[in-house]
Amino acid sequence: MFDIIVCGAGVAGFCAAVAAARMGMKTALIEKYNTPGGILTVLGNNSIDQFNNPFRKENKMVIAGIGWEFVLRLHKEGYARIPDMNAVWENHEQYGVKVNPVAAAKIMDDMLLESGAELYYGQSLADAETENGEIKSILVTTKQGLKKLKAKIYIDCTGDGDLAAFSGASFTAGNGNGTFQPGTLRYYPAVNAEDKILNYGDNKNHVKLNVTDSNLITKAEIESRRMIFSEMQKGAKIMAVAPQVAPREGRRIKGLTEMNSADYCKGTVFEDSICYTYWFVDIHRDNEPSYIKYIKHENTPTVRLGSLISKDIKNLMMAGRCISTDRETNSAIRVKSSCMAMGEAAGTAAALAVKDNIEVKDISVEKLKDTLDKNGAIIPHKERSFEEMMRR
Ligand SMILES: Cc1cc2nc3c(=O)[nH]c(=O)nc-3n(C[C@H](O)[C@H](O)[C@H](O)COP(=O)(O)OP(=O)(O)OC[C@H]3O[C@@H](n4cnc5c(N)ncnc54)[C@H](O)[C@@H]3O)c2cc1C
Repeated sequence: MFDIIVCGAGVAGFCAAVAAARMGMKTALIEKYNTPGGILTVLGNNSIDQFNNPFRKENKMVIAGIGWEFVLRLHKEGYARIPDMNAVWENHEQYGVKVNPVAAAKIMDDMLLESGAELYYGQSLADAETENGEIKSILVTTKQGLKKLKAKIYIDCTGDGDLAAFSGASFTAGNGNGTFQPGTLRYYPAVNAEDKILNYGDNKNHVKLNVTDSNLITKAEIESRRMIFSEMQKGAKIMAVAPQVAPREGRRIKGLTEMNSADYCKGTVFEDSICYTYWFVDIHRDNEPSYIKYIKHENTPTVRLGSLISKDIKNLMMAGRCISTDRETNSAIRVKSSCMAMGEAAGTAAALAVKDNIEVKDISVEKLKDTLDKNGAIIPHKERSFEEMMRR
């Protein structure tokens, strides 16, 4: 019996598992690939946006914690490029921290093992058993057959919201009517890297992708490989592609609170706001430019604890791109540093609930914020300077 099981070892699940295990929780991390990191490592998008709000006059850093610690560890070894977060760049992407995905997965392994988390790589979540509004156990696929695992609290960090779907929790998928943001098959150019951080193939290979239906996923995979092949025939030198089309959007699990884009763009800080997030509303579309809505410069949006707790299943939490928001907000909170901050918050909240033997909805938000602050995360109204963050 585990205290906490985290499903999905993307950036959100990585931070959730490290946070929970560091607090002494017996923690399991389930991941369908043999490598942690999700879209950051396996699926080939190696940019982590955005740790800062560049429009603040001072103390521009709005996200730190385990995600920033991970970046600094990579940076010390030469495997992360951290831009000047105080500079005024023309475009948000220039604030992205670029990492080497091989080194990133290795440092994730290290930090997870140091935290004491138990790792279940190459093992897919296959089902969940729910009784009286509570998950009793989950089934994972292993080389020895199906295995049942149990925990007091489960955190869905699958990005697609698979655990929520298996457990019967309510959700909205995409626009609710079969339309999703397109996915992208990332490719690896056949060139020698000039430094330790490779640049990947760009985002032009958009393909329709519905991650809630395996048959449609199969179609999208075949179509995207055909697109890449046709680029190769036109002369593109491509050495390899990611093992899967990277999804921008899946299920949004219904939480105690559903964050909305009006509050998001205003940067409203709520009593239960437990971390900042920084990106604009950015819905990619099939054959037209992205739908974009910028946030008010001086404000920084936040993530609410209520959006990390399922409204239907009392021991189910979520972090990363499957939390409870409207569609516009989802397109903003999905960037990686935000997913990292909410992963750490979810893992910490779950640990506090287990320690006090209470439901996660009943934990003290003040205690959660104090714990996050003490552990090095940034909580609302405690922004930090870039200089201080680089000294950590
Ligand atoms: C093409 C593309 C470009 C992007 N560009 C940027 C960018 O430049 N900067 C930026 O910050 N963000 C970018 N994003 C967004 C960002 O990368 C993702 O939203 C973010 O990484 C999501 O993190 P996550 O941990 O929630 O999910 P994921 O990274 O998707 O991790 C989920 C993990 O769960 C695992 N999993 C899923 N289902 C199961 C299951 N049933 N059983 C076990 N494991 C399972 C997956 O294998 C994966 O490891 C981009 C996204 C895409 C698709």
